[in-house]
Amino acid sequence: MKIENNPDLRASWRAILQNMEKTQQAGFFKLPAVQLIAVSKGQPRPLIDQLLADGQRLFGENRIQEALDKWPSLRARYPDTELHLIGGLQTNKTKEALALFDVIETIDRTELVDAIAKEILKDASGSLRCKRFFIQVNIGEELQKSGVAPAATKSLLDYCQQKNIFVEGLMCIPPAGSPPAPYFALLHKMAKEYGLLHLSMGMSGDYETAIRLGATHVRIGTALFGERS
Ligand SMILES: *Cc1c(COP(=O)(O)O)cnc(C)c1O
Repeated sequence: MKIENNPDLRASWRAILQNMEKTQQAGFFKLPAVQLIAVSKGQPRPLIDQLLADGQRLFGENRIQEALDKWPSLRARYPDTELHLIGGLQTNKTKEALALFDVIETIDRTELVDAIAKEILKDASGSLRCKRFFIQVNIGEELQKSGVAPAATKSLLDYCQQKNIFVEGLMCIPPAGSPPAPYFALLHKMAKEYGLLHLSMGMSGDYETAIRLGATHVRIGTALFGERS
């Protein structure tokens, strides 16, 4: 099947990258470089293919099974792809997640840290891919949302260090329906206090605000690809 290129996808990709750079450059304070995570969950494969062909290499998925269905074949063609897990991880899927993803952004509890540490210890042949981790913070302390509470984040970070799990940043999804800036600012403050260099925050509707508040990774789906099926 011949796949027609989607001019809208290319245009929105370029516009978002330009917008990211402009926002970062215009910061009142010197802002860190920021990377686009193209959130490809629920998107048709031809569009993902096109974005890879155009040069995007950083992608985010929130479900293990969906990512396993898509990414091994895509990555065989684009080996320098970097894949981030941005959805919750059940401990019984730890091994599969470690084998597929480059970065797990959703560490949120000690049982998961234990499961990750155990799989890494068992992996004598070094076949697991993932060596980079973020802690997901439930920044708005919402009952229905995953993530560790802000007040418990430092002790989870210490626990990761004890288990030799290298945490490089924090990730959050602020509450829907209220201005995100105070939540992004709080995540930034926490990362600074803990000496963490990376901040994954900002989605289609609020990525510019997140960049102004120090995001190093923005996770964008619909503004890039269009609505998910
Ligand atoms: C789906 C998702 C995104 C992307 O959301 P859009 O609003 O489509 O940009 C970002 N982060 C997480 C954790 C997601 O699950």
